[in-house]
Amino acid sequence: MATFFERKIEFLKGVGPQRAELLQKELQIFTYADLLQHYPFRYEDRTKFYKISQVRENQPFIQVIGKFVRFQLAGAGRKQRLVGTFADETGTIELVWFQGIKWVQSRVAVGVPYIAFGKPARFGSKYSIAHPEIEPLTEKNKQGSYLQPVYHTSEKLKRKFIDSKAISKMMKMLLIDAVNHITETLPAPLIDQYRLMDKKSAMVQIHFPRNAQELQRARYRLKLEELFYIQLRLLKLKISRIESFPGIRFDNSELLNTYYKNHLPFELTGAQKRVVKEIYQDFRSGKQMNRLVQGDVGSGKTMVAFLSMLIAISNGTQCAFMAPTEILAEQHYKGLKEYADLLGIHIARLTGSSKKSERKVIDQMLQSGDLPILVGTHAVLEDKVKFKKLGLAVIDEQHRFGVAQRARLWKKGNNAYPHVLVMTATPIPRTLAMTLYGDLDVSVIDELPAGRKPIKTYHMRDSHRLKMFGFIEKEIQKGRQVYVVYPLIEESATLDYKDLMDGYESMSRRFPDYQLSIVHGKMKAEDKEWEMQRFVRGETKIMVATTVIEVGVNVPNASIMVIENAERFGLSQLHQLRGRVGRGAEQSYCILMTGNKLTTEGKARVQTMVESIDGFKIAEVDLKLRGPGDLMGTQQSGLTELMISDLSKDTEILKLARSLASELLAKDPELKAPENQVVRTQVNAQRKSNVNWSRIS
Ligand code: ADP
Ligand code: MG
Repeated sequence: MATFFERKIEFLKGVGPQRAELLQKELQIFTYADLLQHYPFRYEDRTKFYKISQVRENQPFIQVIGKFVRFQLAGAGRKQRLVGTFADETGTIELVWFQGIKWVQSRVAVGVPYIAFGKPARFGSKYSIAHPEIEPLTEKNKQGSYLQPVYHTSEKLKRKFIDSKAISKMMKMLLIDAVNHITETLPAPLIDQYRLMDKKSAMVQIHFPRNAQELQRARYRLKLEELFYIQLRLLKLKISRIESFPGIRFDNSELLNTYYKNHLPFELTGAQKRVVKEIYQDFRSGKQMNRLVQGDVGSGKTMVAFLSMLIAISNGTQCAFMAPTEILAEQHYKGLKEYADLLGIHIARLTGSSKKSERKVIDQMLQSGDLPILVGTHAVLEDKVKFKKLGLAVIDEQHRFGVAQRARLWKKGNNAYPHVLVMTATPIPRTLAMTLYGDLDVSVIDELPAGRKPIKTYHMRDSHRLKMFGFIEKEIQKGRQVYVVYPLIEESATLDYKDLMDGYESMSRRFPDYQLSIVHGKMKAEDKEWEMQRFVRGETKIMVATTVIEVGVNVPNASIMVIENAERFGLSQLHQLRGRVGRGAEQSYCILMTGNKLTTEGKARVQTMVESIDGFKIAEVDLKLRGPGDLMGTQQSGLTELMISDLSKDTEILKLARSLASELLAKDPELKAPENQVVRTQVNAQRKSNVNWSRIS
């Protein structure tokens, strides 16, 4: 039998099958529980009444008490509007309706006291409010002093009169019964320690707040609860992964020590040292490592990976190093080979275009164990690639390495589970990482090698294009190379290609003495590769490209990055692109070209780039501007389930939730203690409701 909260929404008084269907379609409200968790997204302050003489145009929503003096129909046809002159003892204001005129006329009268609520605007010397809410004045609402909840709804729902007010009415209807069923969902000691509002009060106060303070407490409690259970679930996942996947224990670090003493080409940064230590600790633990290393472009992730591989090899296992593209795999192969040769360690590469004969040799050596390092694209994951004993898989420049891919790796381990090291240059704010990768361990390389010259970033409008040309000409004369990047966005691809081609043409005309490369997604792989290589060798001075050059490419002599239509890129993408320069000894520059007119958000993005080179700071701004939903594929992450928390703002609550969840699991991993009974019930209920969800969608 369905519990109270599982009851279908159509059974709520005043809803019925038709409205229920709409609520399901438009707001995914299926059950009583869903409606209760449809929290208001803001509250209108009805605590204060204004006098009409106090009305100003920059005020937010306000309410005034008064009477209509007269009504007037102005304009004709579709421009017709109803103007009501509304007065109190201090003055008059115009209340205006463009739609639903008949409906308004049937409901309001001259000479009767009303409360009018809305956002004032000014026309000449007069103030007016368009589409105000009008309520007859009563003994009760005269008091003011309440916060009115505002609920998300949709145009479709509004057309069927399910607006925010109607939802609030349903909520009232539901809560009257629900209060008898709502039970506490957090352990009592936790409630006591943090003086949290109890669940029942929180549910009432969130929908019908008595005052701002109570509302604040209700929101805090519900957010903490929500984040606590998400963290608990992620931590439980992690624990069960660690328990069910024993890893190969590596406690020999011979090769690492030899290399460190005799061949290390530079002093490691403090952050690199720390991360290598964290990895070594995982290796020695006997548990399978699943670690994400985040480090800004140029922070030296490759060396960290190489040192980790040396440990794996010292312990008689093999390593796979995977890059997202062939070009990158090739670059990594060359770079790693230089390091490995010094120790006489054999290394090979395998990509989609490897010849059959090469493959054969590689296969043999892999299976005999004579090949300790294999570098490649994801071709390395194919089933036919067999290792004698794979101990460590490094995945470069990827922040999402799915469970399915991990599973394929595990198959390669011959019953022992290879350790996994995922590296990404996409900095992710800690709060988001905690939720997205809550079941992984995260290391951060938050320090760049010493002596790097910070990239200088400038913003130029299209009208200053000639100046930009002059600047890059000077730099090319000094021997540098330049990237010019164009956005390419799926829907308008044809237009974007035209932009790119036009840009290429005008550059060719402007720089007749230099060779140019062009690379874009519509080219054949080998043509791209050929153009890329010409640029890498320095034969071409300017590389005009779409974002295909975004990841990992390393041309130290390229010191200028021009980004065209920069306002069309997201912040993290801009940051990634900028990271392509600043890899050599020379001063590097990033020039953001934009149109003359920018949206507020576009301006904020460009400004952030000009002011900061810190990837984490940029990611934080990105999170604030776009909200977590847009930031990356959130589908599998559980982020879409957030009902009340906002990861861009609730950082502190999230941290608390995380530490509470981890403390609780440390003390009572099986959730057996009597005071944790509620937690256990809640976790089981969550599991059940997940099943239900997958059946519905
Ligand atoms: P990313 O983290 O972007 O993958 P890389 O590993 O490609 O960075 O390193 C960028 C460059 O910095 C390389 O040329 C590398 O040799 C160099 N590098 C890495 N670590 C250090 C260090 N500690 N000191 C000086 N140079 C370093
Ligand atoms: Mg790299």
